[in-house]
Amino acid sequence: MQREEYSEELQHLNKMSVKNVPSRITSLGLLLDDESLIQTSGHIQCLDIHLYQVKHPVLLGKRHHLTKLIISEAHPSCCHLGTNLTLIKLRLMGFWVSQGRQSVKAVIQPCPVCKKINALPFEAPTGLQLPVHRVNLVHHFLQVGIDFTGYYWVTVNGEEAKMHILFTL
Ligand SMILES: [Zn+2]
Repeated sequence: MQREEYSEELQHLNKMSVKNVPSRITSLGLLLDDESLIQTSGHIQCLDIHLYQVKHPVLLGKRHHLTKLIISEAHPSCCHLGTNLTLIKLRLMGFWVSQGRQSVKAVIQPCPVCKKINALPFEAPTGLQLPVHRVNLVHHFLQVGIDFTGYYWVTVNGEEAKMHILFTL
């Protein structure tokens, strides 16, 4: 993946090219590890955590499919807590994504769990007029109706009685 995305930087780091130093090498402090992976030296060399992978995360290209897969794995493991925490999780996993915020946003934007959590409540339509019977005060039993389905046999205090259904407004 790094050969596809950072060929110029790799050539320079392998001393195969002595042209101008690519700007990423100086800005991110890129270096090669024993397995010829590009790592960043970052700005946290004084961090108390002694994990090498945290201090020297592996550089990932922002558009590569592998990067998207790694972000997709990191995002649920930090409980869908958004872009910043996914980025932190990635750095703790030992990865540095170039333009990470944009990459993480693009990957987690279609996440259905986040959409469900961050969904806003349904808003009532504006300008809608309520019907008359919902806004005007009416007396009890002003309008009465009887269901014509007939009566029901209901047991009341041990005796059966005919009951009709009465509708009122
Ligand atoms: Zn999510």
